[in-house]
Order: sequence, then C-alpha cells, then structure tokens
Amino acid sequence: MNEVLEYLRTYRDGRRRAVEGGSVGFYFAKTPTPATSLTGLPRDAEFVVIDGRVRELDDLLQVRSLKALWITYVGDREVGVIRQLRSLRALVIGELRLPDLQSLAVLTDLQHLVCQLANRLRTIGLSSSLPQLATLHLGELRHLSDLTEIGAFTSLTQLVLHGGMWSKLRVKSLRPIGALTRLEDLFLASLHVADDTLSHLASLQGLQYLGLPNVFPLAECAALAAALPRTRGKILTPFFAGLLDGSEPSPSGACKTCGAHRVMTTGKPVRQLCPRCDRARIDQHFARWNAALTGAVRQRSNTHPPSRGA
Ligand SMILES: [Zn+2]
Repeated sequence: MNEVLEYLRTYRDGRRRAVEGGSVGFYFAKTPTPATSLTGLPRDAEFVVIDGRVRELDDLLQVRSLKALWITYVGDREVGVIRQLRSLRALVIGELRLPDLQSLAVLTDLQHLVCQLANRLRTIGLSSSLPQLATLHLGELRHLSDLTEIGAFTSLTQLVLHGGMWSKLRVKSLRPIGALTRLEDLFLASLHVADDTLSHLASLQGLQYLGLPNVFPLAECAALAAALPRTRGKILTPFFAGLLDGSEPSPSGACKTCGAHRVMTTGKPVRQLCPRCDRARIDQHFARWNAALTGAVRQRSNTHPPSRGA
C-alpha cells in the first residue's frame, strides 16, 4: 500500500512543482517493475505490482489482505478478477481496455483509482458508487466527452484528467467539476472545453493547486484568479510561462533580436513576448489583466458581499 501512496504523492508533488515553477512540464513518477508471475505470492501480501497478462491472475483472490494493486493491463478477464478483490483501497491500472468503469462499482472501499491509459473509455459508468474515492486520475482520454458523472464523486480531493498527445479530451463544459468542493488538486491537460468558460471552477474554494492548459480567454482566467485568491496556478497569473526579467528559459524560446527568454501571456490570444524588445506590449497585457482582475474582484464583492462575522 505504501508504495502506491508514495507513487501518488510523488506524482502530485511533481504536478504541484510544475504549477509553481516557471516552466511547463510533465512529471512522471517512477513506475515499479511488474512481476510476471504470482508464484510464491504471500497470502498476507498487501501490495502487488503485476503484469496483467499473467496466466494465474486468479491466485490474487487468495490474498484476502490485498489493499493495493498495480496492474499493467486490464481487459474483461482481468477486471473479472479485480472486482472480487473487495479489500482494495488503491488501484493503479497501466492500460485500461474497457469502455467504462462499471465493473469496479463493487469496490466500495476504493480510495485511489488511477488509469494511466484510458483511451477506450467512453463513459465512467460508476455514478456515485465509490463513496470513499479521494484520488481519480484518468489519462489519454479520447472518447469521454461528458464530465457529468465525474461531478458525482464529491469525496475527491485530487482529480487529474487529460487527453492524449495527439488528440485532446473534448468536453462540453467544466460545470460538473464545480460540484467537487473538496478538491485540493485539479490538473487538466490536453483539453478543449466547448463553452470556453472557467466560471464553474469558482466554487472550488479549497483548491490549493490548479493546472490548466493556456487555452481560455483572458477575462475567464482573471475572473477565476479573483474567485480563487488562495489557489496556485499559472492560469491565475498574468504570465503563463517565463519570467519578466528574461532570466528563465521557457517554452516560448529566445527572442530572435536580443536572445532574452520570452514570456508567454496568460489567456487567449496567447502571445510570446520579449521582456526587453516587447516592453510596451507586455505593459499592455499587464494592464488588460489588471483591469479584468479588478473588474472581477469588484463584481464579486457586489454579488458576494463579505460577511460581517457572527
Ligand atoms: Zn528581445
């Protein structure tokens, strides 16, 4: 169990560092080496890392104490075994080859669920049947288009959803995520949101870290920054990448004129600007951001006047 929790912690901390640091980057926690046989598996094992294709997978059913399972591959045969492991608290799946997660609904003690490659997932199919779920990571999502079911997991403190390298996770709206008010970490990557708004995330007042791609209008980013003043996230700052003194390399690359590292502005339309050569445009962006932020703060204090205390 400890190994899985350690993995989840490393992964979360890496994501948090990416949010805090100036550079955009993904952090991959080290994956343990899966066993290719269950021979000699102790009956009191609590944690197993296994290749999903092992023939004697059924042997797992004799381990009554199993709390954490890390399995490289899960299709129909494998999920038939996993759903009988009722003591599981944590499940990490490398490649999930199922269209939904319905079979896992019986694992009511599950607290952490990670599917690194879930490119066949079309629906969640679990509704609110995992009442203890604190962590949900679903990666390489290509066919999921509706997050409504995710909004039922109100016990979540950490949610990671991302599309693939070549195809984005395309959703109608982030509205369902707004119901997850216990969230502390939210990371969404390779994402396209049809309604183009971040307003639904304003209810996430306990959010500590927010990782989002730089694909939303500036006014939306600034309004969310006004709503979540305690949350850390590049999308909540005027410059998404790079430092204004040009001291830090950023994905925006170097200026062709003077060689300084450029900065990337937050919010559509995204611009790559040189801190030396494009000073006027940087000031202009800063002014736009501040105007949007101030306007949003003012609007919030009108609609949500500060309470006078009891
Ligand atoms: Zn320059």
